[in-house]
Amino acid sequence: MSNLLITNIGQLVTNDSAREGLLGIVEGAAVGVREGMISWVGASDAVPEEFRSLPAIDAREIAVVPGFVDAHTHAVFAGDRSHEHAMRLSGASYADIQAAGDGIYSTVRDTRAASLIELILGSRTRVARMLESGTTTVEIKTGYGLDTANELKMLDAIDAVDSSLPIDIVRTFLGAHVVGPEFNANRTGYVDLVVGEMLDAVSGRVDFVDVFCDAVAFTIDETERITAAASAAGIAVRLHADQLSRTGGGALAAKIGAVAADHLDHASDEDLSYIAAAGTVAVLLPGVSLMMREPAPDGRRFIDAGVTVAIATDCNPGTSYVETMPFIIALAATTSGMTPAEALWSATAGGAAALGLSDRGIIAPGKLADLVMLDAPSYEHLAYRPDGDLVRRVIKRGVPV
Ligand SMILES: [Zn+2]
Repeated sequence: MSNLLITNIGQLVTNDSAREGLLGIVEGAAVGVREGMISWVGASDAVPEEFRSLPAIDAREIAVVPGFVDAHTHAVFAGDRSHEHAMRLSGASYADIQAAGDGIYSTVRDTRAASLIELILGSRTRVARMLESGTTTVEIKTGYGLDTANELKMLDAIDAVDSSLPIDIVRTFLGAHVVGPEFNANRTGYVDLVVGEMLDAVSGRVDFVDVFCDAVAFTIDETERITAAASAAGIAVRLHADQLSRTGGGALAAKIGAVAADHLDHASDEDLSYIAAAGTVAVLLPGVSLMMREPAPDGRRFIDAGVTVAIATDCNPGTSYVETMPFIIALAATTSGMTPAEALWSATAGGAAALGLSDRGIIAPGKLADLVMLDAPSYEHLAYRPDGDLVRRVIKRGVPV
């Protein structure tokens, strides 16, 4: 049923506005869908004849919003780091945990040890929960293999999850997550591997190359070398930048024209001016701040600086085991200085912008029919009821999930 009419919509959030960040709200709306694409949007009492015979869903007294676009996740992994979170709550720092051989390296050990089928089954469960909670497009990174064979195994797992669920997955190669454990005394050797054998192996299978540019991961010089190799291979770039301290990753993202710069908790005002001018999207990750007990990202400061903002879960086993975008919307609105409207926009149209996708995040003719029907009369409930499962129905490419 990829042909569909949704009628009597109490409140339709279209994001179809001339100005970025404005929701575009229609009350008493209807949406006509053909072949998985939005074909018509208008008043419910003015549905054109050609749509009236389509299978119909009545959305009386409820809000319909664009499907959520989760633009930053590490949702494919094996293992369990709940104990590490308990350590953190007892006072251990990120660096203490990584130095103890935990942190990212423990997920690398577990992901390497997992068979492909184990990796697929564990990850599919998470991605299915994302879909059930309204995420219709999700970005998933590699970066827990850190050798060529295991990075490829992660991509195989992403492919398998993608083909088994009605959700679109954007693939990012994050071989430069941290230095591979075999290369602790030979960082240059690891960067050689990333820009050589690994990049060759993933080329044609990924949409983006990402680098964790931070004091515990890769330097600015190393990041520039890796992103230059990605660009030479024709692959778009995004960065983890200025998360734990200001290393200049945000400014570098702007300089090299990265599609997105993520985290940015420690970016300076000057960095934000470069990011705004470059049109690089800032992906803010308030779930990480919550779990790390750090101050929330200041979304207001980014928006006021003219930066396009996305918000995402950063679903990962260490610092943000969060799967649902409605929770992130509530968190951004409550802790990041964003209005409920800005938080919703950043979770939909903003997320799409952060992935370089112009065909979703907006409910308008010609866009994908990715829609979420809420168990609530207005989108403001997403910020108002943080623990509520407010997603009644998810429609992916015109098909109810
Ligand atoms: Zn991340």
